[in-house]
Amino acid sequence: MLDQYGRKIEYMRISVTQKCNLKCIYCDPDGENCKGSEDDSLTPRELEKITRSMVNAGIRKIRITGGEPLLRRDICEIISRIAKIDGIEDICMTTNGIHLLKMAGDLKAAGLRRINISLDSLKPEKFKFITGGGDLKRTMDGIDRTLELGMTPVKINTVLIKGINDDEIDDLIELTRNRPIEVRFIELMPMGSFGADNRDKIIHNDDLIAARPGLQYQARTDKGSPAIYYQMDGYNGKIGFISPMSHQFCADCNRIRLTSDGKIRPCLGNNGEVNIRQALNLKPEDFNQIVSQIIRDKPRGHHFDKDFKSTRAMHMIGG
Ligand code: SAM
Repeated sequence: MLDQYGRKIEYMRISVTQKCNLKCIYCDPDGENCKGSEDDSLTPRELEKITRSMVNAGIRKIRITGGEPLLRRDICEIISRIAKIDGIEDICMTTNGIHLLKMAGDLKAAGLRRINISLDSLKPEKFKFITGGGDLKRTMDGIDRTLELGMTPVKINTVLIKGINDDEIDDLIELTRNRPIEVRFIELMPMGSFGADNRDKIIHNDDLIAARPGLQYQARTDKGSPAIYYQMDGYNGKIGFISPMSHQFCADCNRIRLTSDGKIRPCLGNNGEVNIRQALNLKPEDFNQIVSQIIRDKPRGHHFDKDFKSTRAMHMIGG
């Protein structure tokens, strides 16, 4: 369905947990919020009910994220319930890949189509530093397993931070030489205190592109995707640039987010949220009406350019 600004909203990102097994410096460096002693995450049944209503309102694509979605023991049940809903055309996941080697086969069997994997460094020590203790080999094994299963294109998400991992841009681009991989460079956002306090560490994607004349622009095929794609001549994969800080792409935004504790956040860069869990016991027609209203009211655009501070870090919203 269309929102009040005429955008077709058809994509929902679902955070299935705010817990994570890593403590990325730009997301939750203390790991405090990631511990989450009592888990108030939506159940598979609740997730299915909300998604059904969203599908009635026009949602066609789902991304499962977190926190770290593979920490949920019932993740395959969640995927299978959602994948079976009539009207769902695509279901994918964003993960840090730590548990992917052993779980990717089951995820695929449950109905998952594609996987995005976060990877901020190819150097084991630096990977450990950025992720607060992560083991690079496990994430790399997860990437290889996903490729082996043919869940392509495998998308790699890299948040670039000046002085920390910007010396690895060309090595990351090299991953696309022989593999059907899309490496996507994401500008650091003021979600969580690191991004908000380190705006000087943001690397603008335009500068990366200008410095690499070998990159060839690829015509956009998916208007709803925030990434602009390039390719190195003769390479198998692609390089994507996601530039929320230097280019507002809100006019083309087609997404809303569902937090693990049952709030709909229609815009990442706007702290407005609606508690949808509270409405789950309403009659279906009343519930559907609330869902439609949330979509209609999606804000025009984000506020990253001002003094925006998000009330939640990314692991609590679902990146
Ligand atoms: N645990 C999963 C993972 O690591 O991919 C999913 C959740 S993580 C919050 C989702 C994405 O959000 C990751 O690709 C991460 O790099 C990105 N992210 C988190 N905080 C960010 C920030 N401040 N700026 C830009 N991207 C961020």
